[in-house]
Amino acid sequence: MHITVNNLNKSFGSFQASKNISFEIEKGKLIGLLGPSGGGKTTILRMLAGLEEPDTGDIIFHGAKVNHLPPQERGIGFVFQNYALFKHMSVFDNIAFGLTVKKKTKQEIKTRVTELIELTGLKSLESRLPHQLSGGQRQRVAFARALAPEPQLLLLDEPFAAIDAKVRKELRTWLKEMIDRVGITTIFVTHDQEEAVEVADEIMIINQGALEQKGTPIEIYKNPQTPFVAGFVGESTHLDHINELKGFGASFADAKAIVRPEFVEVGSESEISFLSAAEKGTVRNVFFRGTNWQVDVEVKGHRLFAYRSMEQAILHPGDVVYVLIHRIYLFNNEQTLTVE
Ligand code: ATP
Repeated sequence: MHITVNNLNKSFGSFQASKNISFEIEKGKLIGLLGPSGGGKTTILRMLAGLEEPDTGDIIFHGAKVNHLPPQERGIGFVFQNYALFKHMSVFDNIAFGLTVKKKTKQEIKTRVTELIELTGLKSLESRLPHQLSGGQRQRVAFARALAPEPQLLLLDEPFAAIDAKVRKELRTWLKEMIDRVGITTIFVTHDQEEAVEVADEIMIINQGALEQKGTPIEIYKNPQTPFVAGFVGESTHLDHINELKGFGASFADAKAIVRPEFVEVGSESEISFLSAAEKGTVRNVFFRGTNWQVDVEVKGHRLFAYRSMEQAILHPGDVVYVLIHRIYLFNNEQTLTVE
């Protein structure tokens, strides 16, 4: 389903939960709504679902305005974080629920539920009750139930939040593969940037009720449009002023800057790729991260961090090193610049 949203506003009393939200989603895309808790992600999802009415703005599915359509007429499947399965119904009956409501024949229900049980890898669990399943299995039942009536749009509100870290990682890979196979337009809410970056075709960053940026994970990571986006996706350090660093003159005195560790080189004279552009710094801390080292350095009063590979010599606090910043993001009077 192709979705267009124009200038959505929603307030609860005097609190503005959605501020002039506009976006477009192409059919078949998997979209992550990412942002801090309370930022307004769920409110957007609920307006799309028809569970909340926008104060102003339009929601358009396939070119037709759906603002006044009730949820059951919008062709939507919904999965919440707390599974919300029917406790006294078997896996089979839970998945069949939406089809029973639609008054499908017994044979149609059996065919469709069997298909979904296969798709979601729940074979042999058909007759179990929800309490006889693991968290991950329950969530797969919830997906199967949402997909059963063949919705055009799948809305997932923190679908993995209640699941432990390892199963959660498996489930999200599974979800991505399943959604690619089904080809259904899907929007999922998460506050976990790793989850959004790994799973989504495109991410929408929601903060304080506003859409800060929409783009592919790599676009958002490489070209953040606001300091908030730069700080929320990926690792970063904020610097209040950078005019005393090499290559940045007085005209950068008021600029706010963000530096990512991936774009910082830290090492000895012979290791640095472009010595004349490097600053001298002092190592303050070194952490082993399992696959590489994180090195915290101080440069002209700024604290930055960088990574070093396992093959490189181990640095120690107090070592004097060279620091080369390859890329810096500048945010100045609404203007965003990337300096390389
Ligand atoms: P979370 O990750 O915590 O679910 P979220 O980004 O999904 O956060 P929303 O649930 O959309 O955020 O809530 C946005 C803001 O709107 C919050 O401050 C919330 O308290 C407020 N809010 C949401 N629904 C209502 C309501 N029915 N009445 C009053 N305030 C509400």
